Amino acid sequence: MTGIFYVKFITDVNLGKLAKWMRLLGYDTVFYHGNADRDFLKRAAQEGRVALTRKKNVAGKLPSGNLVIIHSDNVLDQLRELMETLSFLPDPARMFSICARCNADLIEVSKDKISGMVPDYIFASHTEFHMCPHCNGVYWPGTHIEKVQSFLRMHIQNHHP
Ligand SMILES: [Zn+2]
Repeated sequence: MTGIFYVKFITDVNLGKLAKWMRLLGYDTVFYHGNADRDFLKRAAQEGRVALTRKKNVAGKLPSGNLVIIHSDNVLDQLRELMETLSFLPDPARMFSICARCNADLIEVSKDKISGMVPDYIFASHTEFHMCPHCNGVYWPGTHIEKVQSFLRMHIQNHHP
């Protein structure tokens, strides 16, 4: 199975970078400020989230498919590991719909609304802006999009020769 894959995630305290990447890819991902303890697993089950952790001793505490133990240290390897384990490729249409910082849904804003909130050269060279209603962070197609797309190109080349 590849392509559209609509699930929500929760990561423990050791996977903060992975949580940000998952949000950039458009997946609702809660960053849990603690280890993969009982409350973490309870929240995952209650909210129907796939639990992501590096702690091997929680294996078997959630139904398979609802818990993924991540082994890699590097965030891009972690992302690849997760995509391989759950057999999915992210949907480009979903990317950049969620704030990487606070997991809130971004809203599209007109250019005059963000005047003065982004560097001048960014304001001058972009037309499409999104804003987070929670932290007021402004997003535009820029470095994040390039990073994600180059990662996906590598991933796809490596796994679909
Ligand atoms: Zn935000």
